Amino acid sequence: MNVAKDRAVQIHYHLSDSDGNVIDSSRGGDTLGYLHGHGQLVAGVENALDGKAAGASLSVVVPPEEGYGVRDDALDVGIPLSAFPPESHDQIKAGVMFEGAHPSEEGASAVFTIVEVLPDRVHATANHALAGVTLHFELEVVSVRAATDEELAHGHLHGPGGHHHH
Ligand code: ZN
Repeated sequence: MNVAKDRAVQIHYHLSDSDGNVIDSSRGGDTLGYLHGHGQLVAGVENALDGKAAGASLSVVVPPEEGYGVRDDALDVGIPLSAFPPESHDQIKAGVMFEGAHPSEEGASAVFTIVEVLPDRVHATANHALAGVTLHFELEVVSVRAATDEELAHGHLHGPGGHHHH
């Protein structure tokens, strides 16, 4: 069976950046299971896997536009430390996430990750960590099956490699 919309697909993936630094990999671990054609993987990966048969191996270079998006400079912000409640100051450190007003979309919120803490201010970003990164994937299609009606109704896989929330 080949990869197509509404099929349950198990893959192994190995993701590197353009310098060969490994970003993420399923090698040596569990396969990644997903419901094809529902936007669960970045577009460049789902497009490359479409029509492939179980057992297929492929290398794919995914530009940011088909990956995690381009960087938006408006989402890199500097915030005075005084804008945070004093009781929260000891929790403010790099890597901590918080929700705040979106810098360019009125009324919207965005999730920011603290990048750097200076004595009087915090640098944070709402850009995805992989925004602007060209993704180099090595992919292997391990298995393909039809999704069950229940999986299609939920929009995700059940069982090994899927959700276990039932
Ligand atoms: Zn479910």
